Amino acid sequence: MISKAEDMKDNIPEHRIDEEKRRGRNDMRLLLFLLLICGLIFAGRELWAHFHADGDGKQVVVSLDGEPVLICGLNELRDMETEEELRAASKVYDEDILSFSEEGVEVRSEVGYNVISYGELSDGSEGVKCLRADCPDKVCVEQGTICLSTEVIVCLPHKLTVRIED
Ligand SMILES: [Zn+2]
Repeated sequence: MISKAEDMKDNIPEHRIDEEKRRGRNDMRLLLFLLLICGLIFAGRELWAHFHADGDGKQVVVSLDGEPVLICGLNELRDMETEEELRAASKVYDEDILSFSEEGVEVRSEVGYNVISYGELSDGSEGVKCLRADCPDKVCVEQGTICLSTEVIVCLPHKLTVRIED
């Protein structure tokens, strides 16, 4: 009694089986090659995102009582060196509210001030933080650096918020 598989194998000429095997090997090679390409593309994108996309394109929005008082690129905030650069970088500018300092941008209101500056996490992610403030609770300062558009720094006593937009 011969099984069906053996029966079929007997009916296929030897060179046909070799050809099937060879084709199978080629398919496997092609698959591995495609996987390798996919892996390289993925790795490349991750690297690119790590070194480039981070600060670029991200916007920092600081609001007082819901009103935006500073809107500028995160990389602009990072590279800013003078009051003039602050004035040019921010889409809104009121000299009674904003002023440039060595530490960052000072945002003043009748109730106090917050210094907003560029920040970096230990993994290299770029973001923004409230470096100093004269609010009583300092919750805004303790929040540290935020990097994602889902995060927000809040200074309740000063009615100030800091957000990042992609
Ligand atoms: Zn605060």
